Amino acid sequence: MNKILIIGAGIIGMLTARLLCKAGVSVTIIEQGYAGQESSWAGGGIISPLYPWRYSDPVTSLAQWGQQHYPDVLADIHLNSGIDPEYIQSGLLYLDIEDELEQAVKWEKNHAYDFAALSGEQLKAVEPGLASFGDDKKGWFTQSIAQVRNPRLVRALREDLLRLGVTIEQQTQAVSFITRGEKVTGIETDKGSFTGDKVVVAGGAWSARLLEQWVRVPKIAPVKGQMIVFKAEPGVVSRIVLSQGRYVIPRKDGRVVLGSTLEFNDFDKTTTDDVLQELKQEAYRIIPALKNYPVEKQWAGLRPGSIDGVPYIGEHPELKNLYLNAGHFRNGVVIGLASCQLLVNQLLGQETIVDPTPYLLSEERLVNDSKEIDLRRAI
Ligand SMILES: Cc1cc2nc3c(=O)[nH]c(=O)nc-3n(C[C@H](O)[C@H](O)[C@H](O)COP(=O)(O)OP(=O)(O)OC[C@H]3O[C@@H](n4cnc5c(N)ncnc54)[C@H](O)[C@@H]3O)c2cc1C
Repeated sequence: MNKILIIGAGIIGMLTARLLCKAGVSVTIIEQGYAGQESSWAGGGIISPLYPWRYSDPVTSLAQWGQQHYPDVLADIHLNSGIDPEYIQSGLLYLDIEDELEQAVKWEKNHAYDFAALSGEQLKAVEPGLASFGDDKKGWFTQSIAQVRNPRLVRALREDLLRLGVTIEQQTQAVSFITRGEKVTGIETDKGSFTGDKVVVAGGAWSARLLEQWVRVPKIAPVKGQMIVFKAEPGVVSRIVLSQGRYVIPRKDGRVVLGSTLEFNDFDKTTTDDVLQELKQEAYRIIPALKNYPVEKQWAGLRPGSIDGVPYIGEHPELKNLYLNAGHFRNGVVIGLASCQLLVNQLLGQETIVDPTPYLLSEERLVNDSKEIDLRRAI
C-alpha cells in the first residue's frame, strides 16, 4: 500500500498515522484547524473510563489494551519528540459509589483491577488534601489508574509524527470525497485535492457532518465539556478524585484540573460563568485547599458522542477504501490507542488485536444508531 489519507489530527488521527508510518506506509493528515487543538487537547487524560463498570465489554476491551500498552508507547513518543506527555500513575479515588458498589466490586474483581475499600481514616492517608467527610465516610481506590496531560500529549504526538516523516496539512478542510465507481480515491479540500489508496475519517465530533452527504452514518454528535484549572502547588492533591460525577486531576507541576460538564449544544464551544462558579464550588467541596489558589483558565471541548460510547471502527460498507474511527465519546484517550491499532490491523490486513465485530459499521449499527436517540439517555 502506497498512501493513506487521514482526516483529522486529534489523538485518533495522529495515533493512527503513527502506527501506519511505523509500518512503512506514507501518510498525510488533513486538519481543518491546527493539530491536536480540539477534544484531544481539552480532555482530562484519565486513562480509565470514569465509572468503568457502567460500560459495555467492547469499551472495556479497548480500555484494558490501552492501559497495558500506554506506558511503552508514551515512553517512545517522549523519547522521539523530546516532549514529556506526563504519564503518571496517580491512582483513582472513588467517593459516593455506595449505590452501585456491588456491581463495581464484581466488575473490578472480574477484570483483575486492584480495588481497595478505604475507611474515613484511610481515605485521608491516601489523599491528605481531601475534605473531612467524617469518620464513617468510605472510599474505594484503584492504585493502577494513570493519567496523561492532554496538551503535552498532542504536542508530543505532532512532533513525533513530523520527525517520523508524516505530512500534516493544517488549516485545510476536507469538504468532499473523490470517488471512482464504488471506491474512494481521494479527498477534496478547500486547498485542493489529495489522492490516496485509502481514506480514514478521524474527524471527532465533526465526522458525521462530513460523511452524511455521501453515506449513511450512525449518530456521532458533539457533547460539550467545560473544565477549569487551578494554579496550585505540588502536594495540594496527589490522586485523581471522583465524586458525584466531578473529578479532580493533579498535574505534575501542581496545577489541578476540575471537570467536567456534559452539554448538548451542537458545535458551540463557549464557556459560561455559571459553570465556572459551579466547578469552583465542586472543587472546594472535594479539596478545600483549592480555595487558596486562582483559577488560571476555563475551556470547553467537544466530545465525539456516540450512542453507547462504542466507537465506529472499520471500512464503510457503502464506499470501498473509506474507513472510520470516530465516536469515542468520553474515553478517546483510554480507548484511543487500541481503537487505532484495531483500525490499522484492518487497513493492513493483519490479525486484529480484539474481535472487530462490535465496532464495525454493521447494518444493525447503521440503522439503530442513526435513529434520533437522545445521547443524554444513552450514557
Ligand atoms: C472536557 C473533556 C474531558 C475529557 N476527558 C477524558 C479523559 O479523562 N479520558 C479519556 O479517555 N477521554 C476524555 N475525553 C474524551 C477524549 O478527549 C475524546 O474522546 C478524544 O479526544 C477524541 O479524539 P478525536 O481525535 O476523535 O477528536 P478531536 O480531538 O476532536 O480531533 C478531531 C480533529 O478532526 C478535525 N476535523 C474534523 N473535521 C474535519 C474536516 N472536515 N477536515 C479537516 N479536519 C477535520 C478537527 O479539527 C479536529 O482537530 C474528554 C473530552 C473532553 C471534551
